[in-house]
Amino acid sequence: MDLHDAKILVNDTLLKVKEEIKRLEEMTKPISPDNAIGRLSRMEAIGEKSVNDAALRNAKMRVTKLTQALKRIADEEYGDCLECGEEISIKRLKTIPEATLCIKCASRIE
Ligand SMILES: [Zn+2]
Repeated sequence: MDLHDAKILVNDTLLKVKEEIKRLEEMTKPISPDNAIGRLSRMEAIGEKSVNDAALRNAKMRVTKLTQALKRIADEEYGDCLECGEEISIKRLKTIPEATLCIKCASRIE
């Protein structure tokens, strides 16, 4: 992938993930013990919060990975598989701009 296009793609994704983090942080505020949550019962609210907490952790991890991807773009190393050195397919990078492994290595390792 062209490094210029890659930079746009990674920056766009970074913005979207940061928006998502803001939204999730709103949703994962501590649950008040007085059960003032409206239609949700406290147990349901806790269940929902743990789902959102996990999503928030994932989103934060993506920010780290996307920031590393920007560094690889600056170093002109972006798009090469860290395992085998082959180019990662554009299709894969468009889906997962922070990918550091080609599809073959990713399916072998993960
Ligand atoms: Zn590979």
